Amino acid sequence: MHDAPQPARAGTLHIVATPIGNLRDIGLRALDVLRSADLVAAEDTRTTQVLLAAHGIQARMVAVHEHNERGAAARLIEALRAGRSVAYVSDAGTPGISDPGARLVEAVRAAGLPVTPIPGPSAVAAALSVAGVDGPWLFVGFLPGRTAARRKTLRGYAAWPCGLVLYEAPHRVRATVDDLLAELDSARTLLIARELSKRFEQLHQCVLADAPAWLAADENHRRGEFVLVVGPPAAQADDAPDDAEARRVLAILLEALPATQAARLAARLTGGRRNALYDLALSLKPDIPPAPWTD
Ligand code: SAM
Repeated sequence: MHDAPQPARAGTLHIVATPIGNLRDIGLRALDVLRSADLVAAEDTRTTQVLLAAHGIQARMVAVHEHNERGAAARLIEALRAGRSVAYVSDAGTPGISDPGARLVEAVRAAGLPVTPIPGPSAVAAALSVAGVDGPWLFVGFLPGRTAARRKTLRGYAAWPCGLVLYEAPHRVRATVDDLLAELDSARTLLIARELSKRFEQLHQCVLADAPAWLAADENHRRGEFVLVVGPPAAQADDAPDDAEARRVLAILLEALPATQAARLAARLTGGRRNALYDLALSLKPDIPPAPWTD
């Protein structure tokens, strides 16, 4: 247990997480490092200046953003080689999580110099901590800009047996919720986490089917920064067939065969159990009689 201040280390790049809204969410070690680093490299020096001023820190700052990350990395590597300590911060939260930082880290590591994280806030962790998702989840981050690409991305994840975490900006949150509803099971839960740690923080949990109405009900519901946490799809029984593939195969076989034969063949083609596939055939063609075999 360290209770003394831990200043920045010479010749080391420190990747420092900063608050996602509430400036008091900064960690003590982040403050130690920002106070003592020879250089603070920031995505936007004006934004970081506000944070530093709030904590009475004066630092020598350099801008390292998406557009100059490679060139700036070369200059920082020189500084690190000369034994300087460097702290890197993005505008908010943890660098490298839907934020610049990865290229800088890669370049510094490739130069054989040490990189260390100073952990702290991230919107994904804050939202998940109150989402009640018990099990695996996938960080999707921002979806692509175009509707077709967004829907294709979501379609690819629709059957994954895990929660999904998305970042979204206010002008696109409605479109994103519409896309979620178009591609995922409408009974899945959705946590809309808005303005986390800020004055107008709001957490609204509903099923996907009800989310458009909630967003439409009040323009404040569409303001600010968003994390959307979609709960996992309903669990399948262990012997249940992979739904999408089994449905596709069964639908083709049922065009030419009775359900019993279609289920037998589908079992061989998909590796699923015959009984489960027969049940699925029933749901595709509800007038089929009960299975004539017992397993
Ligand atoms: N690096 C940051 C992190 O660790 O969370 C994320 C940066 S990304 C450019 C900004 C997005 O993160 C926002 O559009 C929003 O989706 C999410 N976000 C950041 N702060 C948030 C907050 N206070 N409440 C809700 N979402 C937030």
